[in-house]
Amino acid sequence: MMDRIEVDRQELQGNFCRGCGYCMPCPQGISINMCARASLLLRRAPSDIILSEDGQQMMKKIEDCTECGQCSEKCPYGLDVPDLLKKNYEDVKEVLAGKPI
Ligand code: SF4
Ligand code: SF4
Repeated sequence: MMDRIEVDRQELQGNFCRGCGYCMPCPQGISINMCARASLLLRRAPSDIILSEDGQQMMKKIEDCTECGQCSEKCPYGLDVPDLLKKNYEDVKEVLAGKPI
């Protein structure tokens, strides 16, 4: 139990998206407030939100990110949003390829 709490503590410290949406809209139409916390949603909500056909289409939009940086400028938590999006996208692709969640 304490191990689980420690894992959660590490995951939820600092560098994670709160889903507030202050960084939006994205000129490329990326649903940042969902995509930047896909890894958390996968493990804490019904995973269909991310793994369904619609969810996968939503995540694929991350490929259109131009790294313009306007989302990071608006994020009140100072997140490197493009980097966070890429990490979440990689994680989702690995899960779809069979990585256990
Ligand atoms: S850096 Fe990427 S995700 Fe952020 S606003 Fe620009 S295109 Fe959208
Ligand atoms: S990236 Fe920042 S501003 Fe955008 S939804 Fe997440 S926490 Fe909010």
